[in-house]
Amino acid sequence: MPTAIEFFKLLPKTNCKECGQPTCLAFAMQLANQKAKIEDCPHVSGEAKNTLNEASAPPVATVKVGEKNAINMGGETVLYRHERRFNNPIAYAVTVSDALDDEAVLKRIEYIRSLRFDRIGMVFKADMVCIRNDSKDADRFMKVCNLVKDNWDSPFVLESEDKDALIKAMDACKTFRPLVYGADKDTFDELIQAAKASKCPLAIKAGTLEDAAAMTEKAKAAGYNDIILDLQCNDIKALLEKQTAVRRAALKKKFKPFGYPMMNKVGSGEYAVMCAVISTLKYGSLVIFDDLKPYEALPLFTLRQNIYTDPQVPIQVKQGLYPINNPGEHSPIMFTTNFSLTYFTVRADIEKSKVPVWLQIVNTEGMSVLTAYSAGKFNPEHVVEAMQESGVLDKTDGKIIVPGLVARMSGKLQELVQRDVIVGTTESKNIPKHLKEITAQGQ
Ligand code: SF4
Repeated sequence: MPTAIEFFKLLPKTNCKECGQPTCLAFAMQLANQKAKIEDCPHVSGEAKNTLNEASAPPVATVKVGEKNAINMGGETVLYRHERRFNNPIAYAVTVSDALDDEAVLKRIEYIRSLRFDRIGMVFKADMVCIRNDSKDADRFMKVCNLVKDNWDSPFVLESEDKDALIKAMDACKTFRPLVYGADKDTFDELIQAAKASKCPLAIKAGTLEDAAAMTEKAKAAGYNDIILDLQCNDIKALLEKQTAVRRAALKKKFKPFGYPMMNKVGSGEYAVMCAVISTLKYGSLVIFDDLKPYEALPLFTLRQNIYTDPQVPIQVKQGLYPINNPGEHSPIMFTTNFSLTYFTVRADIEKSKVPVWLQIVNTEGMSVLTAYSAGKFNPEHVVEAMQESGVLDKTDGKIIVPGLVARMSGKLQELVQRDVIVGTTESKNIPKHLKEITAQGQ
């Protein structure tokens, strides 16, 4: 990615402001931070636009897989997420064998759909089905592809050793844009042409880095760029070494033949999960499992969420009033910050108490209670403003419970709202006990 100065050199430098920025330099800085598009400047020349577009294209291609609920793979610009952020989370696929009978295929799809968890307001799930041609029968393969098309509404992978079966299935499924797995040295030329005609992404199986570079260059020369690289790694060491080497070459050395998303097949069991962990950390875009158990999926999905959360943008919920356990006109009011983890933890503990509560969430730009308080974003005035906006003070005459960590704001808050204020617990886990106690005391 060019620097702000490199962008600036190619801009008209008239400071006309039509891009919405006060100066061309300010616009160049937005471009360098990927917060603006070159098209936002109507005066940049065609030649400069081409140069800038070429220079600002991500060093790792973005490959779209699927149509409905499509998944973008690759498109990364940094080696470490603290440098900027990672863009497109790794996808996890689970295999459906076409050797199963129809009923078992449908059960298998249902099982893959059930690998789904709600966590702090987000849904974690298996992303893709991989249809594997174990039957070695092209007609059976096609039949199972049709079953998946009719019963799975997310992207899928077509996997076969039989090039002709793959080409036939790819043509029949092309409107779904499946990932086709995969081309090796022998099948490469034919599969590239078929994938290009069907506009489907294609996985390339390359045993060595030299093969990978040669095949991607050949594909590019054929005018085809929707490639996912499978470096055929059979163990954790090879996976870590090869995927790191390829991504470093693409980002640091601008080596275009390695500028593609990477995938790997891991089988099933604990070793497979370890491989998937490595791929999640070091630079995979897709892992295909033979099988994945719920107890293996949950920690893996949680790891993915942590790796792909933008470290510069805390996960937030909206400022607003959240009624919990059907509160009424005498129910107490609790309040906290809009940091997601705080909100969901406090909410779960209030729910556990079964005591009706109005929970007021205050916008602190995603900061936790003490951080927001120290930064001056969570003070009595902010809390009262949020309460006035939500109208909670008109909905109940109940007491206000101040989070124990910011007990010192209780005096000022009481003065501002002219209502009884009590201090709550410092730890969320003690909320149920505290709420039950104050309810029993009739407070
Ligand atoms: Fe500069 Fe173009 Fe923005 Fe005008 S619209 S200020 S020329 S970058």
